[in-house]
Amino acid sequence: MLSEMKRIVILGGGTGGSIMMNKLAHGLRDRIKSGEVEIVVVNPSERHYYQPAFLLIPVNVMDEREAYTPFSSLVPEGVRWIRDRTVRIDLDNRAVELGSGDRLSYDYLVVSTGATLDPSGVEGLEDTYHFYSFDAARRLKRALADFEGGKVVVGISSIPYRCPPAPIEMTLILRDYFARRGIWDKVELTYFYPLPRVFPIEGVAELLAQEMERKGINYSLMFNLDHVDVERKRLVSLEGEELEYDLAIIVPPHRGADVVRGSGIGDEDGWINVDKYTLNIVGYDDAYAIGDATNLPVSKAGSVADFEAEVVSRRIMDEIEGYEPTSKYNGKTMCFVLTGIGKATVLVFDYENPPPIVPPSFIYYWLKLAYNKLYWNITAKSILTGVVL
Ligand SMILES: Cc1cc2nc3c(=O)[nH]c(=O)nc-3n(C[C@H](O)[C@H](O)[C@H](O)COP(=O)(O)OP(=O)(O)OC[C@H]3O[C@@H](n4cnc5c(N)ncnc54)[C@H](O)[C@@H]3O)c2cc1C
Repeated sequence: MLSEMKRIVILGGGTGGSIMMNKLAHGLRDRIKSGEVEIVVVNPSERHYYQPAFLLIPVNVMDEREAYTPFSSLVPEGVRWIRDRTVRIDLDNRAVELGSGDRLSYDYLVVSTGATLDPSGVEGLEDTYHFYSFDAARRLKRALADFEGGKVVVGISSIPYRCPPAPIEMTLILRDYFARRGIWDKVELTYFYPLPRVFPIEGVAELLAQEMERKGINYSLMFNLDHVDVERKRLVSLEGEELEYDLAIIVPPHRGADVVRGSGIGDEDGWINVDKYTLNIVGYDDAYAIGDATNLPVSKAGSVADFEAEVVSRRIMDEIEGYEPTSKYNGKTMCFVLTGIGKATVLVFDYENPPPIVPPSFIYYWLKLAYNKLYWNITAKSILTGVVL
């Protein structure tokens, strides 16, 4: 028997939070049954969204009803769900404050509140489209359906953003979408990026640049978006370059969750400073952050949240059982990158090892589509670890 009851509080019920609560509920089921451990998840959303679907909804590869499930269906036996928003995190006093005004104390805390979008950061962005939320993906789908030809630009407004390959995937997919609709000869498609290459990792950038060249897609590098000139329909860069558009698809600026900024536990953009191996919030060995919420130099990706949840759940369970926690995160990241409708490659890398270059093929595309249907069970319910793609 434990000398006193331990409460684990998880903030957020997205990819990281769902995996976390399922792993802990499974690993600690006997302690939960005997009343020695309580697991509480604080999450305001009724729906859990599978965000990779937002890339495929606009081009009719996935149906919008496949993008979400009721959050209640993911909450395992033994976990208490408080349907509320956390409004303050008090690390020094081991407590969180909820929207209802209630205070909840904890023995262990896991912050997995993800990222938020802040379109107000760029003037004129309201004249553009994106696919980084469910509603935005549906809106883009309607705009694409009405589009009959012209200049299309795709890019990002700032770094960091979720799923680094997603904008280039959207560009490559759009080429095939327009070809399927028989209007590719009426479209001029341009991808823009703030770095001197099309993707942060060198070998992968070469592969993706070749794919774009082969498909007749233009790209403009070192293009740091300053503002959108809505009247003249131009994107204007900090460097003074301009890109004309009829349809602009731009990933809005990302920030950490409001509660992180409001509680003063993140940097000025709201990303939480964590130890890159233990994932402890720096200075607090009873509090962790995982997923998009951290300031780690890794991709903001579901696979990262999955690998991190494995490490943090083991550390918490070891401590509860009286062992020294030894589990460490090695920076592992894994994702499929669609290079069009019908082809994909896969990237696997960590802090020490860059990804091997894998030629795009139909098999990875098929695996990705199959995985999209399996996500709810094998990942969100954590039946298999490390299969977030
Ligand atoms: C278009 C697109 C494509 C993508 N494709 C891939 C891919 O192919 N592979 C991949 O690995 N990743 C992909 N990702 C990224 C992946 O979806 C995210 O990295 C992942 O969801 C991060 O998980 P998370 O738990 O950190 O955040 P989220 O899943 O965003 O969850 C955050 C949760 O916190 C909750 N929350 C927010 N504020 C509060 C608060 N104050 N109190 C309590 N709860 C709060 C929210 O309601 C939400 O439930 C993609 C993302 C996008 C947008």
